[in-house]
Amino acid sequence: MIIGGHYDTIAETGGANDNASGTAVVLALAKKIQGRPLPFTVRFIAFGGEEIGLEGSRFYVESLPEAERARIQFVLNLDVVGARVPLAVSGDARLRERFLELALADGVRLSTAPEDVPSDHLSFLQADIPAVILTTPEFTFIHTPEDTIDRLDAQTLAQVFRLARRFLEGFPPQPAS
Ligand SMILES: [Zn+2]
Repeated sequence: MIIGGHYDTIAETGGANDNASGTAVVLALAKKIQGRPLPFTVRFIAFGGEEIGLEGSRFYVESLPEAERARIQFVLNLDVVGARVPLAVSGDARLRERFLELALADGVRLSTAPEDVPSDHLSFLQADIPAVILTTPEFTFIHTPEDTIDRLDAQTLAQVFRLARRFLEGFPPQPAS
């Protein structure tokens, strides 16, 4: 399983929500499960070059030998996860359903975002690797000087962390009954 988020941003912005928010949750998750024996491998990846066309994730996927690629069961991409709005999920249908179930069980509002949220999960989907993105679909301030830390919502970030953690702990997902 891969849990990732891009750590690059663009020149005109502080990049708090896009994407220090996602990178921070990736690091927090890595710290949380550090040293814990898991029946599977998790790779935590901070991708570069997302803003110039998903370059980092595309390079990563292309550089993997076929056998390595086949071992990736799920990819969770965290991008722009800190706005003070309800969360959204987009990508692989089965993973989407899994996150909607987890959110329901956890009392978190989660909706389905449009299919074409441009971010690193697309590099994996294009290689037929199941991938999904969690995001806060409020994109007014990203790529502007106003993408600052004071706009980030701690409660939303905590929800993202919790959902991702539950996803990890519940792996492999059981089919809905
Ligand atoms: Zn981004």
